[in-house]
Amino acid sequence: MPNPSTKLLELIEIYKGRKTEFPNLKGVTLASWILESGWGGSELANKHNNFAGMKYRKAMEPFATKISYAAHDGVDDYCAFASPEKFIDGYWAFLERAPYKGWRSKAGDAEDFIEFVGPIWAQDGAYSEKVLNLLSQAEALLQSSSIPGAPDDVCGECGDDDAPGKPKVDRWEPTSHQSSRNGTDIDHIVVHYTTSRNIEGTISHFKHGTPRTSAHYIIGRDGALVQMVNDSDRAWHAGSSAMNARSIGIEHVAAPGDKITTAQGATSAALIAWLMHEYEVPRSQVIPHVCVKATSCCGDLFADFGGKAGGSCDVQTNGLRGWMASMGI
Ligand SMILES: [Zn+2]
Repeated sequence: MPNPSTKLLELIEIYKGRKTEFPNLKGVTLASWILESGWGGSELANKHNNFAGMKYRKAMEPFATKISYAAHDGVDDYCAFASPEKFIDGYWAFLERAPYKGWRSKAGDAEDFIEFVGPIWAQDGAYSEKVLNLLSQAEALLQSSSIPGAPDDVCGECGDDDAPGKPKVDRWEPTSHQSSRNGTDIDHIVVHYTTSRNIEGTISHFKHGTPRTSAHYIIGRDGALVQMVNDSDRAWHAGSSAMNARSIGIEHVAAPGDKITTAQGATSAALIAWLMHEYEVPRSQVIPHVCVKATSCCGDLFADFGGKAGGSCDVQTNGLRGWMASMGI
């Protein structure tokens, strides 16, 4: 195996732990990035975290900036990503554009996937075959144990065996309704309800609705966990840019009058416990939306504990805290 660059190893460590909608495609996508970046040795990869030779398109605006770059086929506008995380998210968003329409129907199988995407991605007729030739090496790299010195290996809480893990994200639905935290630390969690039982409507609204709003997470009535914005970025959920900069927003699918369901509560409690641990958010700073602005949010989710739509910040907070205590958080 040729030597992967340090930059490529950094990407691999991050990709290993990254939630994606299609974990079965991590190997084949990494194989394509190895091919495009020459084992991470390209200037685009090293300077701009662009491991896939991705040209700039308007849809890349939330993920990348535009740079002019001279590749083997001439000068063109390419994507520059601020981090490997942004690159990974940008790559999957790139596929959601019109030229790749239909790729999801091929996502069940790595070979089907690259044979569909490859001819659109590159003019080289042997592109898919070249990627597939790297597949076993890419999968071995993803399965290898942590590389010493790689970012995930520097752990402030090593040996913290009781630490809650992040609950599994069932769907990743990236949205452009987000912005940078500009260096602000996360120290609040804001709890919301969607006012509707239609989770697809909420997802669509957070992608295309006006005014443009979003949340980091949406939890379905069935407990399914959807993530739309990376924790490290600012979602637009609280109606206050200062609070958005410092908080994680969690939406619960519920119509007015609906209480949190058992399955939904289990996912929510696991998520809140993990977020509190991960970002050292004190219990007192897990708050219902009504404590940020005048709203009925978070509705009747915690009616069993005294919370209710129309209740004040104190009333809804008591409901939320009562529920949290019942869940052991
Ligand atoms: Zn809300």
